[in-house]
Amino acid sequence: MRAKVIRLDPIACDGHGICAELLPERIVLDDWGYPIIDPEPVSGELLVHANRAVTHCPALALRLERAEAAIDDRRADRTGHRGAA
Ligand code: SF4
Repeated sequence: MRAKVIRLDPIACDGHGICAELLPERIVLDDWGYPIIDPEPVSGELLVHANRAVTHCPALALRLERAEAAIDDRRADRTGHRGAA
């Protein structure tokens, strides 16, 4: 399985906190109960738990994205260019 990063839609998130219970290795809650996501890619057994956190989020506020795509996005944000022209 390829590494993936966890993405959060902060607008959709209701602060239920289930994600932090299912993936405490990468998600902690702030003082108001909203998740703080570790930006490091997840892989292997941890990816299975990350998938569970995503599918159990009642607000559909989490998703997994290929780590390479996330790196491309960060690069594009810095340079203003998306993909090869
Ligand atoms: S389970 Fe979903 S709605 Fe609840 S805190 Fe995590 S991301 Fe937000």
